[in-house]
Amino acid sequence: MASKTEHERHRVVVIGSGFGGLFGTKALRHADVDVTVVARTTHHLFQPLLYQVATGILSEGEIAPPTREVLSRQKNATVLLGDVTGIDLEHRSVTSNVLGRELITEYDSLIVAAGAGQSYFGNDHFSEFAPGMKSIDDALELRGRIFGAFELAEVMAARGQDVDHLLTFVVVGAGPTGVEMAGQIAELAHKTLKSDFRSINTRQARVILLDAAPQVLPPFGAKLGAWTEAKLEKIGVEVQLGAMVIAVDERGLEVQDRDGTRRRIEAVTKVWAAGVQASPLGRILADQTGAALDRAGRISVNPDLTLPGHPEVFVVGDMVALDNLPGVAQVAIQGAQYAAREIDGRLRNKAPQAGFHYFDKGSMATISRFSAVATVGKLRLSGFVAWLMWLAVHLFYITGFKNLVTALLHRTVTIIGNDLSERTVTEQQIFAREALKRLDGAARELVSAPGSERSREELEAQALEEARLTDAGVRGRHD
Ligand SMILES: Cc1cc2nc3c(=O)[nH]c(=O)nc-3n(C[C@H](O)[C@H](O)[C@H](O)COP(=O)(O)OP(=O)(O)OC[C@H]3O[C@@H](n4cnc5c(N)ncnc54)[C@H](O)[C@@H]3O)c2cc1C
Repeated sequence: MASKTEHERHRVVVIGSGFGGLFGTKALRHADVDVTVVARTTHHLFQPLLYQVATGILSEGEIAPPTREVLSRQKNATVLLGDVTGIDLEHRSVTSNVLGRELITEYDSLIVAAGAGQSYFGNDHFSEFAPGMKSIDDALELRGRIFGAFELAEVMAARGQDVDHLLTFVVVGAGPTGVEMAGQIAELAHKTLKSDFRSINTRQARVILLDAAPQVLPPFGAKLGAWTEAKLEKIGVEVQLGAMVIAVDERGLEVQDRDGTRRRIEAVTKVWAAGVQASPLGRILADQTGAALDRAGRISVNPDLTLPGHPEVFVVGDMVALDNLPGVAQVAIQGAQYAAREIDGRLRNKAPQAGFHYFDKGSMATISRFSAVATVGKLRLSGFVAWLMWLAVHLFYITGFKNLVTALLHRTVTIIGNDLSERTVTEQQIFAREALKRLDGAARELVSAPGSERSREELEAQALEEARLTDAGVRGRHD
């Protein structure tokens, strides 16, 4: 590892290549610094369009451009693949790991933008049967599960068997992601796929949107919430509010209603869109600074987004608890740009900026083709106008990535033609997550063999056994 004296320039390390990480790095393009982006994926991810990958509208590459390519012209930026496992505030270094290869990267300034993962509110075992929607892997798994459920139903119907549990889709969480997902699955079942099957009628599929809260889209206010609920019902989504999920298994889930009644819904396909938990890196930072973490694991920061006692460390985006800021892309982008300005300003001996102020540009959520809701300042919009705004805003923000422009052109064609061209699914998509989890360290040890205490034969035998169990239907499969 090179020491500071060998470096003429100020070293900035950015953790994460999401909205905060990428926009923070870009904002440093003219600064007299060397930026190293360390992230656990090779791509930037445009999360707002993940649901379109999950439902076959867009391909994964269209919403996840390689970070390296996006930053290729930014000569002061270096991209490193790695899962950050440690941050040493005293020695100003970040430890990252890729397939057993550890790397320590030193910094003079640090921007932590590691985002948030799915929260199952203490019931992590729900994730086995109800995947969340946070990553490309999640979206592809869901695509496999959704289209796979129709395929299995066709086979079982041809054998004269009951298919109701296969044609029932439950989305848990009536926030923007849940609403978009439920609306899209309903369109898929009731319109797009209606002529594709012979033994099942996809229009008979049930799509249920569940939430423990009493309204749909709470941040959008009661009026837009009620409008959205009515619109969803109209396109064939059953909205069940005040309903808390208490158990999830392979074939369905159990729900407790507000009056205490417990009931079961038979549904093979469940989507979890109900909660977020900030990156565990927040805990690592909290332990070294005494900064508080809230229930969602978000860390308290100073008004200038720095950590208490560490003006050289900025935390931005979904990881931050400050002034009730929402977990949205603009908070991460503006926060990261603020941090970049501060780092640049300090090097130019400028006075510190006033505390971070978030400029709320509004929120929006799509419900179906040509229908959305939006809030902009005091304005409340619904229907086609809101949908046009949604389209325009997405177009505006993603034009920085050339393949996303292609995605939008492609999108226009699919919207007009009501055709989904990204319906390819593989068994790997559906079963790999759980299989990898069960393989635990073994698969990773196979590729990072140096130093492994278990023989290659032992590791291969374990991998084969796990594959056999999955193939035999003992694990991970359902019908
Ligand atoms: C399905 C979905 C739909 C959404 N829709 C909208 C929307 O319509 N509008 C809106 O404004 N917001 C939306 N959001 C929220 C928005 O995407 C987030 O608020 C935003 O991504 C936060 O940016 P961030 O930089 O904090 O985190 P992210 O963008 O999540 O980036 C985190 C980065 O850190 C990396 N990382 C995490 N842990 C580590 C580690 N240990 N080591 C290395 N790298 C790590 C990740 O790989 C990723 O690159 C949506 C979110 C989801 C999940």
